[in-house]
Amino acid sequence: MKLLEYEAKEIFAKYGIPVPRTGGVITKPAQIKAALKKAGKGPWVLKAQVLAGGRGKAGGVKLVNTRAEALAAAKAMVGMKIATHQTQGAGLTVREVLVDQAAPIAREIYISVALDRKSECPVMIASAEGGMQIEELALSKPEAILKEKLCALRGIEPFQARRLAFKLGIPPSELGSFVRFATALSRTFLELDASLVEVNPLILTAEGKLMALDGKIVVDDNALFRHAALAERPDVESSAIELAAKKVGINYIGLDGDIGCMVNGAGLAMATMDTVALAGGMPANFLDVGGGATADQVTAAFKIILKDPKVKAVLINIFGGIMKCDVIAQGVLEAVKKVKLEVPLIVRLEGTNVEVGRDLLRRSGLKLTSAESLWDAAQKAVAAVKR
Ligand code: GDP
Ligand code: MN
Repeated sequence: MKLLEYEAKEIFAKYGIPVPRTGGVITKPAQIKAALKKAGKGPWVLKAQVLAGGRGKAGGVKLVNTRAEALAAAKAMVGMKIATHQTQGAGLTVREVLVDQAAPIAREIYISVALDRKSECPVMIASAEGGMQIEELALSKPEAILKEKLCALRGIEPFQARRLAFKLGIPPSELGSFVRFATALSRTFLELDASLVEVNPLILTAEGKLMALDGKIVVDDNALFRHAALAERPDVESSAIELAAKKVGINYIGLDGDIGCMVNGAGLAMATMDTVALAGGMPANFLDVGGGATADQVTAAFKIILKDPKVKAVLINIFGGIMKCDVIAQGVLEAVKKVKLEVPLIVRLEGTNVEVGRDLLRRSGLKLTSAESLWDAAQKAVAAVKR
């Protein structure tokens, strides 16, 4: 789960990380006056609260000097669509705008804690070339990226924080506050069960003080049960269909294509998507019905897939391991009757009792195409949408 900038900054403040004085979040331009008052004297900065970086270049970060400028910026920003290099072409609608007191920037630094899967530990990543896209920097100037591997239990050690401070050229007067900052960042990462905590930029102000000007936190979904307050937060990331799927316990991720896929098991689901692509088609979704694949679950999955108007054919690829193929076939038939399927359906079953299962499908009289193999099924699905 990804947190918005203002949520990350609220958490930072709790951990003792210096953040700008804030006027809070507004959802209507009329709220700007009160927000500015709360943020203290100007200049101020208005920031679109969307789950994407690169807002600065896309008009989502606006520095304002007067109340009139702030109101104009608020009017322009609330409700705007913002497309950055991280939104894959699609625009995100700005519903919340953060109003902060603007900070005078002397230097911008990049710093984050992420999970280093290769080293099997958290790693603190930093660069003196802040403000820049870290991915770009990693390609063009990898030597400018500093790394400290952290103990997964103790977090960063003071000597590691000092080593980073020296390499980053933190002024000696700020050494202590940098060590406190790095320690707090490391604690935030560990205590939140995060997979990423990023501050870009961490700034040195004109007075030489450190401050987190932007924040991004990604919390491991599997650890949400340990963070009740976060788990209750509205899921702004998922689409309406994805939310509906979550409710009935189906793993669903919407994609751009037109072939709806219903598969049991995440690995088989991914293999199915790859095979569809190999056959020249585009999957409309990733969907894992889960181990059970009961008639109810299959019906629920159908309903979810068919909510997507892009879907022009449905491909079912189910492996009868724990469940027998005849039971699955029965489930598919019941589900098809219930949802009044109007697009072509291609079914590939494999596993225990597969012959009985295929026979049931064949004799059902329902309009569906049986496939012999995954490759056969993918080709038939691609042919069905091209028709
Ligand atoms: P992002 O582009 O989505 O990562 O948004 P950021 O919050 O990182 O802002 C982008 C850039 O806007 C920063 O790198 C700064 O250069 C600038 N910026 C953001 N907040 C302030 C501020 O308070 N004062 C000044 N002077 N610049 C700011
Ligand atoms: Mn940023």
